[in-house]
Order: sequence, then structure tokens, then C-alpha cells
Amino acid sequence: MSVLVVGSVALDSVETPHGKVDDALGGSATFFSAAASHFTDVSVVAVVGDDFPFQEIEFLKKRSVNFDGLVQKPGKTFRWGGKYLSDMNQRETLFTHLNVFEEFDPELPEKYKSIPYIFLANIHPQLQLKVLNQIQNPKLVVLDTMNFWIEGTPDALIEVLKKVNILIINDSEVRLLSGENNIFSGAKKILEMGPNILVVKKGEHGALLISNGSYFWAPAFPLEKLQDPTGAGDTFAGGFVGYLAKSGYVCDKNLRRAVIYGSTLASFCVEKFSLDRLKEINKNEIDERYQQFINMTKVE
Ligand code: AMP
Repeated sequence: MSVLVVGSVALDSVETPHGKVDDALGGSATFFSAAASHFTDVSVVAVVGDDFPFQEIEFLKKRSVNFDGLVQKPGKTFRWGGKYLSDMNQRETLFTHLNVFEEFDPELPEKYKSIPYIFLANIHPQLQLKVLNQIQNPKLVVLDTMNFWIEGTPDALIEVLKKVNILIINDSEVRLLSGENNIFSGAKKILEMGPNILVVKKGEHGALLISNGSYFWAPAFPLEKLQDPTGAGDTFAGGFVGYLAKSGYVCDKNLRRAVIYGSTLASFCVEKFSLDRLKEINKNEIDERYQQFINMTKVE
């Protein structure tokens, strides 16, 4: 089944201990699509400015990502800048320039309105809501957000959370959103806000799936060399939602597999800057690493 994503299509300037890029392709919707398109077709809702280098997203078009909902407006494309410290678990946001996103009022192409799987990627919660309100009978709504919106637009975020089935969030955001220091009591509080399933990303320590009082832990792939963690969260979400959409059925078994596919895709993302590694990989490599993941956690 198809997936619709609303999120940022961005130009990122990133510095890590392994190098630096300026105005490289980024954005939550872009990383998400690069991962999800290995499982199903993806339709993007976003806005870019008149400075956007469209040739950069050609590889996604070839992978059945539909950009009819990507609007170009006069002005500058969304830009984000970040710097990672030596252990790369810590990131400092240097700037967030919303630019053309500031005035964006998404009007969905007619054929997008019946797409069953919806991913509200990290972007202004009001935009997430505007998109969601145009969808007829979504089958599954998954949301991602970040500290920028939890702190900056909490009321709008609480509003959209009421309409969501699954929330993907990292551990520090669980603490920020719930006001609890303990991840598990924080998760419980968030599950009362709307979603019935929570996926907590814990960087190099993997991801945790929480639903109905049950837990599933997935490790992160043991990588010795990583260059740039930017987009790992969105890429995780792409593998996770992409797999669920492909399977067409949300049950505990598929949710667990989806977490492992999400972790698999995220492990490729961080191997190079921007989307460089995600551009190269194919389904065989993904399935091979997925199997390595399974072997890593199997107990006889
Ligand atoms: P991640 O590393 O998964 O948190 O995602 C990083 C990506 O999210 C970058 O490519 C940024 O362009 C994008 N991003 C960063 N901040 C925001 C924001 N406030 N709203 C939307 N997208 C953002």
C-alpha cells in the first residue's frame, strides 16, 4: 500500500569529526522517502524555494517517489545547520531557517487524498494537521517530531497527537514532551495523549517499541565507522512505515519486523554524509543486513 509523507525537503550544512558539507540535500521527507521507497511507492508533500537543485532528487523519482505535492515558491528553501561532537551522540543545532515553509499552506493533489498510510514527518505540527485533515479514512497515521516543535509549538503538537496511531520520538524528546525523567513513565503519559504505540529511538543504543504494556527492544547495528548521523531518525521512520505499508497489516509481529527494518535503513544512512549512502543501496543489501540483525539477537 502507498505512503504519503509531509515534511521538510531541505538544504543542510553539517559538520562532524569526519568532515563538513554545505547546502547538501536533506530534510525529513527526503530521508524518509529514500528509505520507504525500497518497500512501496511514496508521495511527498513539501515546499522548496526557487534555489532548490531539483537534479538532486532525480534518484528518488526513479524509485517511484511521486513529487506532484512538492510545491516551488519564490524565496529560499528550508535550511538547517548542525554540528556533532566527537562521540556523535550529541548534536548542536546551529540554525533552523524555515524560509518558504513559513507561509506554506498545503493543498493536496486529489489522488493523494485516499492514500492509506500517512507519515507526518518532522515539520510544524499545524502543517501536519492541515495535511491530515485532507485525507479520507487513513489506515495508519505515524508522527515524528523534535524538541524544536515540542518547545516552540506545544499546543499544536498536542492537537495533532490526538489523531495519531504511532509516535516515533527519541529518548530526550520523551522526557521533554512528558515532563518525566523516567522513559517508561514518560511513555505512559504520552500514550494517554493519543497514540497507542510509541517507538523510542535511542541512537547507538537502538530502538524500543512500546504498546499496551508490552516492550520490544532492537539494537542498533554495530558500525565501527559512521560519518554523519543526520537523517538517521527519518530514515528509521522510512524503513519502519515503508515495511508496515508493504505488509498491509499492523500486528505485533509486523511492528517488530518494521523496527528492525527501520534500524537497518538507519544504519546505512549514517555511513556517509547527506543521502549519499542511501542513494547507493539496493534491496539485496538491505535484506542481507536485516538478516544480520536477526542473527545478532537470536537465542537458541
Ligand atoms: P534527524 O537527524 O533524523 O533528526 O533529521 C535531520 C533532518 O531534519 C535534516 O535533514 C534537517 O533538514 C531536518 N530538520 C531539522 N530541523 C527541522 C525542523 N525543525 N523541521 C523540519 N525538519 C527539520
